[in-house]
Amino acid sequence: MKLRYPKFLIFFCLFVALVFSGFAQKSGSHSTRGRSSMSAEAKALVEDAIGIVCTQAKLDPKSSIAIDEMQARPSLPIQSPEAKAGAERAQRLLPIAKDLVISSLRQLTVEYGFQKSPKFDTRLRQAIDRVNAVKRVRPDMESRDNASVFLSRPHVITFGTIFLAGLRSDEGMISVLAHELMHIADGDNDSLRPLVAAVGNKASDLTGLDIHGQRSEEITCDLIGAMAVRAYIAGSPGYESIARRVARSIQHNCVEVDEGDEDHLSPRNTIRTLLALNPALVRELINDREERK
Ligand SMILES: [Zn+2]
Repeated sequence: MKLRYPKFLIFFCLFVALVFSGFAQKSGSHSTRGRSSMSAEAKALVEDAIGIVCTQAKLDPKSSIAIDEMQARPSLPIQSPEAKAGAERAQRLLPIAKDLVISSLRQLTVEYGFQKSPKFDTRLRQAIDRVNAVKRVRPDMESRDNASVFLSRPHVITFGTIFLAGLRSDEGMISVLAHELMHIADGDNDSLRPLVAAVGNKASDLTGLDIHGQRSEEITCDLIGAMAVRAYIAGSPGYESIARRVARSIQHNCVEVDEGDEDHLSPRNTIRTLLALNPALVRELINDREERK
């Protein structure tokens, strides 16, 4: 069975890099920090918002477990109550996540000015077909804290049981489902590459970090995840604070051990970049706190 290129292993590459961090530093260029085009005020707001996300990680009983903590946990049998609950949550939310990914992808296409390109429109329609064809989440003990898609089974998202149990809210689960669905949308031939590259360029420009190649795809998948969750929250009002719910879409990145690799930004730089790309998310996190003072 041919395994999809590592980009389909959402956190797998990251943890391989933690283990083999010596190899991950071969070029050194990816860790270079360039100039950020953000104002000092915008940067300060982003840092405040990161504080809110990671404080909520400690206060919210349904917060997503940080990926370094998930990695340290023992494997979890498929029949364990937490894994079963997670698998049911993922399967229940899959149809919603598919719709949210499609609408977020359309929104991103407009935001980045690709809506008038007939060539891109064809690619987008094919991407949407691929997302619509996904049917099932398969829990897998061996996959531990990873989610992945195999080339030979493009209709199935394989989900590690530790990961299923660690995403304890609908928001956290939708974010990761949307991330994987965005990889599926991009497909085997990176058909959404112009959009993905544009997101990476903007992210690099805003943060001064090197976000190109596979890193731009990972950050685009995360961005679609965050957008999908925002839309989900807007469509399902509840008693919990908006900030708490928004935080769940990115807080699995609130790690203690903050290391990235060639293909992924470090988890905390991932939050930083997502917030830089999505000021609406920053406003929702900050405003909610202001209102509660
Ligand atoms: Zn990924």
